[in-house]
Amino acid sequence: FDKFRKGLEKSRTGLWGRLGGWIQGGKIDDTVYDEMEEALLAADVGFDTAIWLVEQVRRAQRQNRVTDPKELPRLLMDAMVDALSGPDPQMHFAESGPTLMLVVGVNGVGKTTSIAKLAHYYQQQGKKVILAAGDTFRAAAIEQLTEWGGRIGCDVVRHSQGADPAAVVFDAISAARSRNADLILCDTAGRLHNKANLMNELAKIHKVAERELPGSPHEVLLVLDAVTGQNALSQAKVFQEVVNVSGIVVTKLDGTAKGGVVLPIVRERQIAVKWVGLGEQMDDLEPFDARAFAQAICS
Ligand code: GDP
Repeated sequence: FDKFRKGLEKSRTGLWGRLGGWIQGGKIDDTVYDEMEEALLAADVGFDTAIWLVEQVRRAQRQNRVTDPKELPRLLMDAMVDALSGPDPQMHFAESGPTLMLVVGVNGVGKTTSIAKLAHYYQQQGKKVILAAGDTFRAAAIEQLTEWGGRIGCDVVRHSQGADPAAVVFDAISAARSRNADLILCDTAGRLHNKANLMNELAKIHKVAERELPGSPHEVLLVLDAVTGQNALSQAKVFQEVVNVSGIVVTKLDGTAKGGVVLPIVRERQIAVKWVGLGEQMDDLEPFDARAFAQAICS
């Protein structure tokens, strides 16, 4: 999470930086809590979760009879870890045969890049990965995924633009079986403005997946761009209405002051953040770690 911390330092909006006043003030009063709430809002934690966090800190402070404001950062960090510790962050795999992961999200959030990063991550663990170009709506999406496939050295199953994405999934599953691949990472179209279309397309993909590879998809990963702040939270809500999201990839946490949106995504939507994207290169992906995240955002 170093890149995340560095990004926050650059933008000088790390909570600690903003809240230096707490520690110097000498006593804990309502002003301190107001400042804490403001700093949380500035980090894009969102209103409900900011209030919830401040309440948790107040309660812990009272219960533990804390009087030194220097202790508050630690209490806030604990409250954040608490908020982030609900849903299970483990990735799910098939017990035997290939694992299918669908990757969903609106265009531009970093979906293709995240697929490539995940492929690279699992290749390094010795898995054979196949990419499926399921965003058949945009020719550029198919090209971009193919380019990444070449760069990281894994096969890409693709059809032409406008083809049926469910047919791409069908072919990817047969390809995975015949080539003994362990993992299929499938891109999907991110047309959120047409919710009915998106829902139908994903339902059809699910139907083919369940039929051809029982128990799949094993993961439906939603990619959200941290830079969009509270918009990321609304996207999570809409995608949850359309598909059974099993985990989130939060991208572009490097160089944003808005990483705080991770907190309401987990606490309010009850979906695990499983991965964070910290740059444009294939290595810039890390499994999510609640404490490391809380430490980074508070540094
Ligand atoms: P898609 O339209 O959702 O498939 O988005 P892309 O994967 O094409 O990514 C859009 C842009 O965001 C590209 O310029 C990527 O290099 C960039 N990007 C993706 N993930 C990250 C990240 O974690 N950090 C940064 N800084 N840029 C990213």
